[in-house]
Amino acid sequence: MAQAVHQLDDGAWVSVNDRRVVNVSDLWRLSDHEFCSCSVADVLVEGFVEVGVDYPTVDVRFAGQCIACGAEGVSGWVPVGRIDPEDDDRFRPVANADAIISPRPTA
Ligand SMILES: [Zn+2]
Repeated sequence: MAQAVHQLDDGAWVSVNDRRVVNVSDLWRLSDHEFCSCSVADVLVEGFVEVGVDYPTVDVRFAGQCIACGAEGVSGWVPVGRIDPEDDDRFRPVANADAIISPRPTA
């Protein structure tokens, strides 16, 4: 099934099927990542660089800065939620304010 997944407003929002579902205002905790040398990085997200869908998972790459060590960069692919095919393809975000997210390995 084709899903329309975009970034909007210069990377400020992720849009899924013409609904704005995730914005950049969050601090994301990453584990098992290559963003910086911290074991768990607290990354302030500044903008989405790429969005993609590996149905039903929606992934993004974002630019940001780790507030623990100050490293800036672009993340690997990080899952931000999934599309629920049993509920009219609604987007279900991961609770990234509290969760520690493990980016997918960039194969
Ligand atoms: Zn760091």
